[in-house]
Amino acid sequence: MKQFIERIENGKEYVITTNGTLLDEDFAKWCFEESGKNVRINMSHDGKTCADRGADPALLDEKVKMLLKYQEDTLIQLVYTEQTLPDLYDNVLHLSGLGVKNVSAALDGFASPADPDSFGDLMREQWDKLGHLHGVSMHELTAKRKFIKENIRPKCEICKKKVYINWDGNFYPCIQFQNLSGFRCGDVNTGILTKEAEKAHPDYSVMSARCDGCEIRDYCRNSCACRKMGTTGTLTDISEAACMEEQVHILTALEQIAESQRRKKKTEEKPVKQSGKSVT
Ligand code: SF4
Ligand code: SF4
Repeated sequence: MKQFIERIENGKEYVITTNGTLLDEDFAKWCFEESGKNVRINMSHDGKTCADRGADPALLDEKVKMLLKYQEDTLIQLVYTEQTLPDLYDNVLHLSGLGVKNVSAALDGFASPADPDSFGDLMREQWDKLGHLHGVSMHELTAKRKFIKENIRPKCEICKKKVYINWDGNFYPCIQFQNLSGFRCGDVNTGILTKEAEKAHPDYSVMSARCDGCEIRDYCRNSCACRKMGTTGTLTDISEAACMEEQVHILTALEQIAESQRRKKKTEEKPVKQSGKSVT
Protein backbone atom coordinates (compact mmCIF):
# COMPACT_ATOMS: atom_id res chain seq x y z
CA MET A 1 0.00 0.00 0.00
CA LYS A 2 2.78 2.40 0.92
CA GLN A 3 4.55 1.62 -2.34
CA PHE A 4 1.43 2.32 -4.42
CA ILE A 5 0.69 5.54 -2.59
CA GLU A 6 4.26 6.75 -2.80
CA ARG A 7 4.81 5.82 -6.46
CA ILE A 8 1.53 6.90 -8.05
CA GLU A 9 1.93 10.54 -8.99
CA ASN A 10 -0.85 13.10 -9.21
CA GLY A 11 -3.46 10.84 -7.57
CA LYS A 12 -6.20 13.05 -6.12
CA GLU A 13 -7.25 10.57 -3.50
CA TYR A 14 -6.13 7.12 -2.34
CA VAL A 15 -8.99 5.14 -0.81
CA ILE A 16 -8.30 1.92 1.05
CA THR A 17 -11.11 -0.36 2.15
CA THR A 18 -10.16 -2.95 4.74
CA ASN A 19 -11.79 -5.41 7.10
CA GLY A 20 -9.51 -3.87 9.72
CA THR A 21 -8.10 -7.04 11.23
CA LEU A 22 -4.50 -6.29 10.15
CA LEU A 23 -4.74 -2.54 10.42
CA ASP A 24 -2.12 -1.15 12.78
CA GLU A 25 -1.63 2.28 14.24
CA ASP A 26 1.76 2.82 12.57
CA PHE A 27 0.18 2.46 9.14
CA ALA A 28 -2.76 4.73 10.05
CA LYS A 29 -0.33 7.34 11.36
CA TRP A 30 1.72 7.11 8.16
CA CYS A 31 -1.39 7.49 5.97
CA PHE A 32 -2.84 10.50 7.74
CA GLU A 33 0.19 12.30 9.14
CA GLU A 34 3.32 11.30 7.25
CA SER A 35 2.51 10.32 3.64
CA GLY A 36 1.70 13.86 2.52
CA LYS A 37 -1.03 12.35 0.28
CA ASN A 38 -4.81 12.49 0.49
CA VAL A 39 -5.41 9.01 1.90
CA ARG A 40 -8.74 7.70 3.22
CA ILE A 41 -9.34 4.41 4.98
CA ASN A 42 -12.83 2.89 4.98
CA MET A 43 -13.42 -0.07 7.24
CA SER A 44 -15.95 -2.91 7.18
CA HIS A 45 -17.71 -3.69 10.44
CA ASP A 46 -21.14 -5.32 10.59
CA GLY A 47 -21.87 -4.19 14.14
CA LYS A 48 -22.48 -6.25 17.25
CA THR A 49 -23.79 -9.25 15.28
CA CYS A 50 -20.65 -9.52 13.13
CA ALA A 51 -19.51 -12.51 15.20
CA ASP A 52 -22.07 -14.55 13.18
CA ARG A 53 -19.87 -13.93 10.13
CA GLY A 54 -16.68 -15.04 11.86
CA ALA A 55 -15.35 -11.62 12.89
CA ASP A 56 -14.37 -10.62 16.40
CA PRO A 57 -16.47 -7.58 17.33
CA ALA A 58 -14.14 -6.55 20.18
CA LEU A 59 -11.10 -6.48 17.86
CA LEU A 60 -12.97 -4.53 15.19
CA ASP A 61 -14.31 -2.06 17.79
CA GLU A 62 -10.75 -1.40 18.88
CA LYS A 63 -9.59 -0.82 15.29
CA VAL A 64 -12.49 1.55 14.59
CA LYS A 65 -11.66 3.62 17.68
CA MET A 66 -7.99 3.79 16.63
CA LEU A 67 -8.96 4.89 13.11
CA LEU A 68 -11.31 7.58 14.42
CA LYS A 69 -8.41 9.18 16.29
CA TYR A 70 -6.80 10.01 12.94
CA GLN A 71 -9.86 10.26 10.69
CA GLU A 72 -12.93 11.56 12.51
CA ASP A 73 -15.24 11.03 9.55
CA THR A 74 -14.20 7.40 8.86
CA LEU A 75 -16.79 5.60 6.75
CA ILE A 76 -17.79 2.24 8.18
CA GLN A 77 -19.22 -0.21 5.67
CA LEU A 78 -21.75 -2.64 7.06
CA VAL A 79 -23.32 -5.59 5.24
CA TYR A 80 -26.63 -6.97 6.48
CA THR A 81 -28.39 -10.17 5.54
CA GLU A 82 -31.96 -11.39 5.74
CA GLN A 83 -31.07 -12.83 9.17
CA THR A 84 -29.42 -9.67 10.54
CA LEU A 85 -31.95 -7.21 9.07
CA PRO A 86 -33.97 -7.09 12.34
CA ASP A 87 -30.77 -5.88 14.09
CA LEU A 88 -29.74 -3.34 11.46
CA TYR A 89 -30.68 -0.28 13.53
CA ASP A 90 -29.07 -1.71 16.67
CA ASN A 91 -25.90 -2.54 14.76
CA VAL A 92 -25.61 1.03 13.48
CA LEU A 93 -26.33 2.25 17.03
CA HIS A 94 -23.43 0.09 18.21
CA LEU A 95 -21.11 1.82 15.71
CA SER A 96 -22.47 5.20 16.75
CA GLY A 97 -21.58 4.31 20.36
CA LEU A 98 -17.95 3.93 19.23
CA GLY A 99 -18.02 7.47 17.83
CA VAL A 100 -18.72 6.61 14.17
CA LYS A 101 -20.49 9.37 12.23
CA ASN A 102 -20.62 7.89 8.72
CA VAL A 103 -22.07 4.49 7.90
CA SER A 104 -22.86 2.75 4.64
CA ALA A 105 -25.19 -0.25 5.02
CA ALA A 106 -25.66 -2.63 2.09
CA LEU A 107 -27.83 -5.68 1.75
CA ASP A 108 -25.92 -8.87 1.00
CA GLY A 109 -26.03 -9.40 -2.78
CA PHE A 110 -27.19 -13.01 -2.40
CA ALA A 111 -30.23 -12.12 -0.27
CA SER A 112 -33.31 -13.90 -1.56
CA PRO A 113 -36.04 -13.53 1.07
CA ALA A 114 -38.59 -16.32 1.36
CA ASP A 115 -41.36 -13.84 2.23
CA PRO A 116 -40.62 -10.66 0.23
CA ASP A 117 -43.59 -8.73 1.68
CA SER A 118 -42.63 -9.00 5.33
CA PHE A 119 -38.96 -8.60 4.38
CA GLY A 120 -39.84 -5.33 2.61
CA ASP A 121 -41.89 -4.10 5.62
CA LEU A 122 -39.08 -4.87 8.02
CA MET A 123 -36.52 -3.20 5.80
CA ARG A 124 -38.71 -0.09 5.58
CA GLU A 125 -39.10 0.00 9.36
CA GLN A 126 -35.34 -0.34 9.97
CA TRP A 127 -34.39 2.35 7.44
CA ASP A 128 -37.07 4.69 8.76
CA LYS A 129 -35.47 4.40 12.21
CA LEU A 130 -32.02 4.95 10.69
CA GLY A 131 -33.32 8.04 8.91
CA HIS A 132 -34.23 9.50 12.31
CA LEU A 133 -30.98 8.54 14.04
CA HIS A 134 -29.13 11.66 15.15
CA GLY A 135 -25.38 11.99 14.85
CA VAL A 136 -24.93 9.35 12.12
CA SER A 137 -25.09 10.04 8.40
CA MET A 138 -26.29 7.01 6.44
CA HIS A 139 -24.41 7.15 3.16
CA GLU A 140 -27.24 5.63 1.08
CA LEU A 141 -29.80 8.19 2.30
CA THR A 142 -27.42 11.15 2.03
CA ALA A 143 -26.51 10.19 -1.54
CA LYS A 144 -30.13 9.60 -2.49
CA ARG A 145 -31.28 12.98 -1.10
CA LYS A 146 -28.50 14.67 -3.08
CA PHE A 147 -29.48 12.86 -6.30
CA ILE A 148 -33.13 13.80 -5.83
CA LYS A 149 -32.55 17.43 -4.86
CA GLU A 150 -29.96 18.09 -7.54
CA ASN A 151 -31.81 16.06 -10.13
CA ILE A 152 -28.79 13.85 -10.79
CA ARG A 153 -29.49 10.71 -12.79
CA PRO A 154 -27.05 7.94 -11.87
CA LYS A 155 -25.73 6.33 -15.04
CA CYS A 156 -22.68 4.17 -15.44
CA GLU A 157 -20.73 4.14 -18.70
CA ILE A 158 -18.49 1.18 -19.27
CA CYS A 159 -14.77 1.95 -18.94
CA LYS A 160 -15.34 5.70 -19.08
CA LYS A 161 -15.22 6.75 -15.44
CA LYS A 162 -13.76 3.75 -13.74
CA VAL A 163 -11.71 0.65 -14.48
CA TYR A 164 -10.67 -2.19 -12.22
CA ILE A 165 -6.94 -3.03 -12.35
CA ASN A 166 -6.30 -6.67 -11.53
CA TRP A 167 -3.18 -7.88 -9.70
CA ASP A 168 -1.84 -9.29 -13.03
CA GLY A 169 -2.15 -5.97 -14.86
CA ASN A 170 -5.37 -6.83 -16.72
CA PHE A 171 -8.23 -4.33 -16.76
CA TYR A 172 -11.90 -5.09 -16.09
CA PRO A 173 -14.79 -2.61 -16.16
CA CYS A 174 -15.54 -2.98 -12.44
CA ILE A 175 -14.78 -5.25 -9.50
CA GLN A 176 -17.62 -7.71 -10.12
CA PHE A 177 -16.05 -8.65 -13.47
CA GLN A 178 -12.60 -9.46 -12.14
CA ASN A 179 -11.10 -12.50 -13.93
CA LEU A 180 -14.12 -12.93 -16.26
CA SER A 181 -12.23 -13.18 -19.54
CA GLY A 182 -15.20 -11.98 -21.62
CA PHE A 183 -15.06 -8.66 -19.75
CA ARG A 184 -11.31 -8.03 -19.96
CA CYS A 185 -10.91 -4.52 -21.36
CA GLY A 186 -7.18 -3.98 -21.80
CA ASP A 187 -4.12 -4.08 -19.58
CA VAL A 188 -1.35 -1.89 -18.27
CA ASN A 189 0.55 -2.16 -21.57
CA THR A 190 -2.24 -1.65 -24.12
CA GLY A 191 -4.41 0.78 -22.13
CA ILE A 192 -8.20 0.86 -21.73
CA LEU A 193 -10.19 -0.56 -24.65
CA THR A 194 -13.34 1.52 -24.10
CA LYS A 195 -14.83 1.26 -27.61
CA GLU A 196 -14.36 -2.53 -27.75
CA ALA A 197 -15.94 -2.90 -24.30
CA GLU A 198 -18.95 -0.76 -25.31
CA LYS A 199 -19.45 -2.89 -28.40
CA ALA A 200 -19.10 -6.20 -26.55
CA HIS A 201 -21.48 -5.27 -23.71
CA PRO A 202 -24.31 -3.06 -24.95
CA ASP A 203 -26.45 -4.12 -21.95
CA TYR A 204 -23.93 -2.89 -19.41
CA SER A 205 -26.07 0.01 -18.16
CA VAL A 206 -29.61 -1.04 -19.11
CA MET A 207 -32.40 -1.23 -16.54
CA SER A 208 -34.14 -4.54 -15.97
CA ALA A 209 -37.44 -5.24 -17.75
CA ARG A 210 -39.05 -5.16 -14.27
CA CYS A 211 -38.31 -1.40 -14.17
CA ASP A 212 -40.58 -0.51 -17.12
CA GLY A 213 -43.13 1.96 -15.79
CA CYS A 214 -41.59 2.15 -12.31
CA GLU A 215 -42.35 5.64 -11.02
CA ILE A 216 -39.07 6.03 -9.17
CA ARG A 217 -36.76 4.67 -11.84
CA ASP A 218 -35.12 8.05 -12.39
CA TYR A 219 -33.69 7.89 -8.88
CA CYS A 220 -32.79 4.20 -8.97
CA ARG A 221 -29.18 3.04 -9.22
CA ASN A 222 -30.07 -0.49 -10.28
CA SER A 223 -28.76 -0.03 -13.80
CA CYS A 224 -25.35 -0.58 -12.14
CA ALA A 225 -23.74 -3.55 -13.91
CA CYS A 226 -22.01 -4.65 -10.70
CA ARG A 227 -25.31 -4.80 -8.81
CA LYS A 228 -27.08 -6.65 -11.63
CA MET A 229 -24.22 -9.12 -12.00
CA GLY A 230 -23.78 -9.52 -8.23
CA THR A 231 -27.45 -10.20 -7.56
CA THR A 232 -28.58 -12.15 -10.64
CA GLY A 233 -25.41 -13.12 -12.55
CA THR A 234 -26.68 -11.21 -15.62
CA LEU A 235 -26.44 -7.70 -17.08
CA THR A 236 -30.14 -7.51 -17.78
CA ASP A 237 -31.87 -8.17 -14.46
CA ILE A 238 -31.74 -7.13 -10.83
CA SER A 239 -32.85 -9.26 -7.89
CA GLU A 240 -36.12 -8.60 -6.12
CA ALA A 241 -34.26 -7.92 -2.84
CA ALA A 242 -31.99 -5.31 -4.48
CA CYS A 243 -35.06 -3.70 -6.07
CA MET A 244 -36.75 -3.52 -2.65
CA GLU A 245 -33.66 -2.05 -1.03
CA GLU A 246 -33.61 0.69 -3.63
CA GLN A 247 -37.33 1.41 -3.18
CA VAL A 248 -36.83 1.70 0.58
CA HIS A 249 -33.89 4.11 0.19
CA ILE A 250 -35.77 6.29 -2.29
CA LEU A 251 -39.00 6.42 -0.26
CA THR A 252 -37.11 7.15 2.98
CA ALA A 253 -35.08 9.91 1.30
CA LEU A 254 -38.25 11.44 -0.21
CA GLU A 255 -39.90 11.44 3.21
CA GLN A 256 -36.84 13.08 4.76
CA ILE A 257 -36.92 15.81 2.12
CA ALA A 258 -40.66 16.38 2.68
CA GLU A 259 -40.15 16.46 6.45
CA SER A 260 -37.37 19.03 6.23
CA GLN A 261 -39.48 21.19 3.88
CA ARG A 262 -42.39 21.04 6.36
CA ARG A 263 -40.07 22.06 9.19
CA LYS A 264 -38.66 24.93 7.13
CA LYS A 265 -42.14 26.17 6.25
CA LYS A 266 -43.23 26.01 9.88
CA THR A 267 -40.23 28.08 10.96
CA GLU A 268 -40.94 30.68 8.28
CA GLU A 269 -44.58 30.92 9.38
CA LYS A 270 -43.70 31.40 13.07
CA PRO A 271 -44.88 34.79 14.32
CA VAL A 272 -42.05 37.23 14.94
CA LYS A 273 -42.51 39.15 18.19
CA GLN A 274 -41.87 42.86 17.87
CA SER A 275 -42.47 45.41 20.59
CA GLY A 276 -44.83 43.07 22.37
CA LYS A 277 -46.99 42.61 19.23
CA SER A 278 -47.21 39.54 17.04
CA VAL A 279 -46.41 40.06 13.38
CA THR A 280 -47.10 37.24 10.90
S1 SF4 B 1 -36.98 0.43 -7.76
FE1 SF4 B 1 -36.94 -1.65 -8.64
S2 SF4 B 1 -38.45 -1.61 -10.29
FE2 SF4 B 1 -38.00 0.51 -9.75
S3 SF4 B 1 -36.42 1.14 -11.17
FE3 SF4 B 1 -35.39 0.39 -9.32
S4 SF4 B 1 -34.99 -1.78 -9.65
FE4 SF4 B 1 -36.46 -1.11 -11.16
S1 SF4 C 1 -20.16 0.16 -9.28
FE1 SF4 C 1 -21.73 -0.02 -10.86
S2 SF4 C 1 -22.19 2.08 -11.45
FE2 SF4 C 1 -20.20 2.09 -10.39
S3 SF4 C 1 -18.68 1.88 -11.99
FE3 SF4 C 1 -19.14 -0.17 -11.25
S4 SF4 C 1 -20.73 -0.93 -12.63
FE4 SF4 C 1 -20.64 1.27 -12.84
